[in-house]
Amino acid sequence: MAPDGEEEREWLPVAAPAFVGNEKRYVLECLESGWVSSIGRFIGEFEQRFAEFCGVKHAISCCNGTVALHLALLALGIKRGDEVIVPTFTFVATANAVTYCGATPIFVDCDAGYWGVTADRIEAKMTDRVKAVVVVHMYGQPCDMAPIREVADRYGVPVIEDAAQAHGARYKGEVTGSLGTLGTFSFYGNKILTSGEGGMVVTNHDDLAGAVRLLKGQGMDPARRYWFPILGYNYRMTNIEAAIGLAQLEKAAWHLQKREQVASWYRAGLEGVEGVSLQQEMDWGRSSHWMVSVLLGGGIDRDAVMHALLASGIETRPFFIPMHRLPIYESIIEDPFLNADSISRRGINLPSGASLDEKAVERVVDRLKRSLPSGS
Ligand SMILES: *Cc1c(COP(=O)(O)O)cnc(C)c1O
Repeated sequence: MAPDGEEEREWLPVAAPAFVGNEKRYVLECLESGWVSSIGRFIGEFEQRFAEFCGVKHAISCCNGTVALHLALLALGIKRGDEVIVPTFTFVATANAVTYCGATPIFVDCDAGYWGVTADRIEAKMTDRVKAVVVVHMYGQPCDMAPIREVADRYGVPVIEDAAQAHGARYKGEVTGSLGTLGTFSFYGNKILTSGEGGMVVTNHDDLAGAVRLLKGQGMDPARRYWFPILGYNYRMTNIEAAIGLAQLEKAAWHLQKREQVASWYRAGLEGVEGVSLQQEMDWGRSSHWMVSVLLGGGIDRDAVMHALLASGIETRPFFIPMHRLPIYESIIEDPFLNADSISRRGINLPSGASLDEKAVERVVDRLKRSLPSGS
């Protein structure tokens, strides 16, 4: 065991933003021009560039990824009494957005290998109360969208892609977010691209785009000032946020390439290590590698491993607790969610930011191996 040198003790966070472009310049421009709220040149430019990035007609900015989901569901007319299929293994915002509409989330279990939902599991929960399906590209690995869309089409329900973790991921060559009826993104500080806080709804449907725009801007009629034909919200993004977001987007290729590099270093270091398995990469798509994540073998004490890493200055996170285990949702449990339960108990997210170098990844890999019961 090598003695810990100075460098070895450098703190490695799970996720740190990387600002390598025009962020500072654009933010200063907001301050100097006075355009700090939700009017200003960066909003429109960020939206247009993001639509191009996703290969869709419309991108509508909003104040975070949770709100992006809420807007997408509202635009589809989801309301009290409706049901919406969502994965149980996801971040809580996916389910909460459904609840905000007065609708009920219907949970589905995930695949044991790639941790996303599957068409057959979705179909098993279809009833005539189900009015939409939300899929989540977990940790950036795209779901198998073609069969999911086929099932949704057959039942006549729209699909929302919660692509909060999957900016620039690809499914059969197409960018995630563009594959459903609507797609939603988050630009929180730990996501692939950040705007501080921020979100985006993308779609090819003109009517849905119009509905989202109306809803996010207090519901004010664009043709008549202070005329509010519907109950709207103030869900707008600020020009300062859009300034950061646009600067990040200009460097999207850099961010994605760096994350792919980090993931491949981890893969080389951890593949074949007993007691550790990585998220399965499926041949239908290319992950955005949001968080490099591993499952520990059944008998391994996850907390002990996480503590050992923490003692070496390496931050990790436990996996999300599945929705059906949370007090706000557990009453909705109908059946066991064996994969989600197993994955959630055994998974940890490793440091994954775009600014990690090979030495840092080697340090995590080495420390992780040594913290395993079989470790040397
Ligand atoms: C981050 C995240 C959200 C919420 O985004 P915020 O911008 O934090 O509101 C929603 N869904 C998933 C899957 C996420 O990872």
